[in-house]
Amino acid sequence: MTLRPSDHPGPPTARSAVLWLAVYVAAVTVPLFALLPGPAAGRGFLWDFPMALGYAGLAMLGVQFALTARFRRATAPFGIDIVYYFHRYLAVWALVVVIGHYAILRLANPSALGQVDPTVAPAYMTAGRAALVLFVLVVVLSLLRRRLQLDYDLWRMTHAVLVTVAFAAAVWHLLGAGRFLDTAWKQSLWAAFGAFWVALIAYVRVLRPWRVRRRPWKVMEVRPERGRVWTLVMEQVPRQPPLNFAPGQFAWLTLRASPFAMREHPFSIASSAERPDRIEFSIKELGDFTSNIRNIRPGEIAYVDAPYGTFGIDQSPQAEGYVFVAGGVGIAPIMCMLRTLADRGDPRPVKLFYGNRVWDRVAFREELEALADRLDLEVVHVLQEPPAGWAGERGFVTEDVLLRHLPVTRHRYEYFLCGPTPMTKSVEQSLAALGIPAARVHSEIFDWV
Ligand SMILES: Cc1cc2nc3c(=O)[nH]c(=O)nc-3n(C[C@H](O)[C@H](O)[C@H](O)COP(=O)(O)OP(=O)(O)OC[C@H]3O[C@@H](n4cnc5c(N)ncnc54)[C@H](O)[C@@H]3O)c2cc1C
Repeated sequence: MTLRPSDHPGPPTARSAVLWLAVYVAAVTVPLFALLPGPAAGRGFLWDFPMALGYAGLAMLGVQFALTARFRRATAPFGIDIVYYFHRYLAVWALVVVIGHYAILRLANPSALGQVDPTVAPAYMTAGRAALVLFVLVVVLSLLRRRLQLDYDLWRMTHAVLVTVAFAAAVWHLLGAGRFLDTAWKQSLWAAFGAFWVALIAYVRVLRPWRVRRRPWKVMEVRPERGRVWTLVMEQVPRQPPLNFAPGQFAWLTLRASPFAMREHPFSIASSAERPDRIEFSIKELGDFTSNIRNIRPGEIAYVDAPYGTFGIDQSPQAEGYVFVAGGVGIAPIMCMLRTLADRGDPRPVKLFYGNRVWDRVAFREELEALADRLDLEVVHVLQEPPAGWAGERGFVTEDVLLRHLPVTRHRYEYFLCGPTPMTKSVEQSLAALGIPAARVHSEIFDWV
């Protein structure tokens, strides 16, 4: 028996979460407080306050770039989904702060804003106005993306271009109009601050795709599964060090496009972490990209930016046993964990609650039976529309269903949930009602982007 968790970094600690929050607060406030010493400070509250809002708003917007730059260490303590939520939430607050900067000046010191006409106004003031309009547009388009049914890839490209232009215009405005930038060192500090974020964009949009492009993968097989799921099997070419991922993690996958094209999609790695030279993704047909997986041919090149995420059994290696709850294609990261546990010869008890609508569409049901021979695994299928004569569980994965199959020592198990958001939320509530500590319940959400 080999019990060999992958050598992925261990569980993130609360200390690292606090540290990264402190880094965030420092990134937003230090450039602001650096302005205070010097002759320009203090010209009355209704002047100084909106100015401070302008600087703070820009600093907040700058940090927004870092939040979606997918730095593994910074996202690990929170989970990448939480960081994306934070990004969205803070974008609104940053916009409120920037609008506050403009609105207070307009009301209290309208003469400071000068003429709106761009042929008369100084270019840096026009740049400021343009930045404000662009930021509003960026936030509105992002909040309404689903309602407006905007194509995700188109929205993402537009988002990247608009925020970059808006940020550059805002820095231009600040360097031109920033009355507090009265000394060379303050100007240099803010210029360096702006340059840092531009360098970060260059890293995310150029350096990282370039690195991904240097490590192409080759599609070896495209396998149909039940339930309109397709499994892509791929190997790295040319042979390079294997991808070191932990079971449950996900990758950004690019097919039939360059990694520079920003057409990547997130998918959980479904194959065993013990076989990292040959990885698999199991993808459910949903929209433009996923419905085309069936047309991918063996031999095609794929690009994989991985690994990401903190969902997985290696984050809690001391568990007495594992409980997995999957709905539909949420089975993908769970297959990875089950296959890994089987390859490791792990003797601990494992339960899988697997919710689907109909029996014929239960992806991997035969393999799950086979896995039960290699693991101490009980699979509990829960069907919404069971076939005639079905003796198993029916409906949804409710508290009663869980209670019927979980052992009395259930509070010592670790729980991994992946499926539609309503299912995940409801199972989280059921587990709480059953006395499972929240720290033992881990959820992967597929629709946070
Ligand atoms: C961490 C994670 C792991 C995932 N693992 C799997 C998996 O193993 N198997 C699986 O079938 N699905 C998985 N998904 C969901 C999968 O990424 C989306 O279903 C897919 O990107 C939809 O693309 P589409 O163009 O076919 O659909 P569309 O109909 O165009 O998009 C549907 C929704 O998917 C999201 N989306 C679309 N394109 C992108 C993109 N480029 N980047 C990010 N989100 C996008 C958007 O929220 C969009 O509204 C995962 C998602 C996440 C976040």
